[in-house]
Amino acid sequence: MERHFGASGGGTVRAVDGVSITIGRGEVVGLVGESGSGKSTVGRCAVRLDEPTAGTVHINGTDVSHLSRRALRPLRKDFHLVFQDPSSSLDPRMTVGQIIAEPIRLHRRARGAAVRERVEQLLGQVGLRPEHADRHPHELSGGQRQRISIARALSCDPDLVVADEPTSALDVSVQASVLNLLADLQRDRGFGCLFITHDLAAVEFLADRIAVMYLGQIVEQAPTAELFAAPKHPYTQALLSAAPVPDPVVQRSRERIVLHGELPSPLDPPAGCRFHTRCPLAVDRCRTEVPALRDIPGGRQVSCHLVTDDGTAPDAAA
Ligand code: SF4
Ligand code: MG
Repeated sequence: MERHFGASGGGTVRAVDGVSITIGRGEVVGLVGESGSGKSTVGRCAVRLDEPTAGTVHINGTDVSHLSRRALRPLRKDFHLVFQDPSSSLDPRMTVGQIIAEPIRLHRRARGAAVRERVEQLLGQVGLRPEHADRHPHELSGGQRQRISIARALSCDPDLVVADEPTSALDVSVQASVLNLLADLQRDRGFGCLFITHDLAAVEFLADRIAVMYLGQIVEQAPTAELFAAPKHPYTQALLSAAPVPDPVVQRSRERIVLHGELPSPLDPPAGCRFHTRCPLAVDRCRTEVPALRDIPGGRQVSCHLVTDDGTAPDAAA
């Protein structure tokens, strides 16, 4: 999938370049990387709030990449985005009941008591009470508002939920309860989920598999436990070296790898390996030759010249 944006000074920002992510039914795929790496753009393309410039987005086998608004409408119930900031995604003029009911009326053609019943059921599932249906978003806390967005997202039993930093706008004290709710609902209902975050503890908790993005490209993809146990790409190693260790019994090499320099502009990405300007292990070849994202054992993928075909990787902290 690719997504280019016209830049104000001319030129093309390749926000997302050659990204391919498959999310199975019932699977949670975490997407991590610095801000500006293109994570949100991937998420917006995945639910077709953005149209990919090149490449394709398939949902349930249907190519939705370039469908018109009208053609997309009946499919919208199958995929949903939960935004970072619920205050900006919930219409302040509507009651909570109306917000949750809207997709049900639209896609399920349900009316009257059936809608009300479904709304109350959904409120219960996200830990709220029936009387919350008559409130307006501003009368609720940030955590409650995010529960409303989740209820709305789940109202038509979607196959895919994209959650873009769903807790980062919330108080730290309520982040865990919203993450737990998302994890419970995902497990019970089995929807596929693309979980976009820079919270490494959250992604380790929630995701089955993780894709790491750098400057619009995926540089590594692996099952969660394997990625945390042995990150292969130097960028992933640096990213994880900054993560808190949730369980002190687990011994991980935790030497902090500090990356120097800013994230380069996607308008003019470095030649060769895009990470070479900040990679502590870069060699000559990295400046000219683009490393392909290739398969290594363990159902993993990595794009680095120094990782061998059997998956042996250098240690960027050494
Ligand atoms: Fe670093 Fe070279 Fe590997 Fe890129 S290809 S991550 S610059 S060692
Ligand atoms: Mg973002």
